[in-house]
Amino acid sequence: MKSFDIAIAGGGAAGFFAALRAAECRPGSRIVILEKTGKFLSKVKVSGGGRCNVTHDCLHTSGLIRNYPRGGNSLKKLFGAFKVEDTIAWFKERGIELKVEGDGRMFPVSNSSQTIIDCFLEEARRLNVQLVTNFGVSKLENTGRGFLLRSLKGEVIHAERVLLATGGYAKAEAYHWLQDTGHSIIPPVPSLFTFNSPENSIRQLAGISVPQGLVKIEGTKLQYEGPVLITHWGFSGPAVLKLSAFGADWVHSQDYQFTIQIRWVQEPQEEVLRQHLLSYQLTHPKRQLHGYPLYEIPQRLWHYLCLKAEIPEGQRWAELSKKNLNKLIEGLFRDRHEVKGKTTFKEEFVTCGGIPLQELKLPELESRIRPGLYFAGELLNVDGITGGFNFQNAWTTGWLTGTAIAGSL
Ligand SMILES: Cc1cc2nc3c(=O)[nH]c(=O)nc-3n(C[C@H](O)[C@H](O)[C@H](O)COP(=O)(O)OP(=O)(O)OC[C@H]3O[C@@H](n4cnc5c(N)ncnc54)[C@H](O)[C@@H]3O)c2cc1C
Repeated sequence: MKSFDIAIAGGGAAGFFAALRAAECRPGSRIVILEKTGKFLSKVKVSGGGRCNVTHDCLHTSGLIRNYPRGGNSLKKLFGAFKVEDTIAWFKERGIELKVEGDGRMFPVSNSSQTIIDCFLEEARRLNVQLVTNFGVSKLENTGRGFLLRSLKGEVIHAERVLLATGGYAKAEAYHWLQDTGHSIIPPVPSLFTFNSPENSIRQLAGISVPQGLVKIEGTKLQYEGPVLITHWGFSGPAVLKLSAFGADWVHSQDYQFTIQIRWVQEPQEEVLRQHLLSYQLTHPKRQLHGYPLYEIPQRLWHYLCLKAEIPEGQRWAELSKKNLNKLIEGLFRDRHEVKGKTTFKEEFVTCGGIPLQELKLPELESRIRPGLYFAGELLNVDGITGGFNFQNAWTTGWLTGTAIAGSL
């Protein structure tokens, strides 16, 4: 039976980062990455549309952790120890410059995820990390002197320390093999999706967006600001994606059937909006309502909201009744839409759920139940919104576990 100092289950972003860190901290140690499929780093390959959105230009830990719906204050300990700056420096030291896009997302200057993959494979070769494919870990046994890892095909290896970095699974059954670890597993729930609104006439406006809207889920405190996009299926854009991530558990519990209210205008106070419309009415009495959008609302959306407020085409501001004005304000301020179902966002599927941080020592991410066993990446009950935050979690938790494991040998 082969024996290693460190065995890492999962040849993805977190597994590689941990292996490279451990190998650097403890040169000469026997480290192996066991990957279930025939390929390493396949999610890195397809990430960010093939460009790999490596991280986000968010240098303060307090600001960074606000982009992770789950994990709470524990994340301060993790991201405080390995920050976005450290990620940038790590890649730079290995010849990969990252660039920032207008919305804060950071990509390799090459615009190719292959740059990241090549770097990891080259580093693994340089540091003598063994890479094994087609080894799906199906059982983990504690021997008292380390662990035995059994594959689906019956192969067995021994390791002093084990890191599980097997990523997020979409189905609860996929986590069953982890029950032997003694850890609880928070059932997986999808995060990061767009809202479907079938039979909604607003879908005729597909492609139209407002730069700064607010989307609220009726009957909850869940609401997020940001660009809102109307799609062929319903609603998307950063405000909707954030809502899907932070409200993942709640909308799942509602079987993805709920009502949203959209504020299409930036003005946060309804009374200010009303006063503005009333004074506009006084200054532009002869102007036709439908033809002159206000608040930078796209023409077709403004026209839709006027119709929804039952304002006849051709009507002038002077002719606008109080009742219709109220309806227009309602539409601008809390335009209600039924949501029925969801759609995956650009295939960027992320799960929340997994191993709770409370059961791990932080920041080492070592099991409190099984000393010598560590967890990293999306397998943890940590997930970020879109924009590079999920990889930052993989780098941070990979680096921390790599450091801790090497230090513990
Ligand atoms: C299409 C897509 C695009 C994305 N784009 C971005 C992006 O641009 N930026 C960003 O921040 N995030 C992005 N994400 C999310 C990001 O890819 C993940 O959060 C990240 O890959 C998690 O890293 P990980 O190492 O924890 O898991 P993974 O990358 O999923 O790696 C886990 C590995 O473990 C293997 N494995 C599973 N079970 C076993 C087992 N029992 N034994 C051995 N091996 C096993 C898997 O085959 C896999 O190779 C994207 C996700 C998707 C799906």
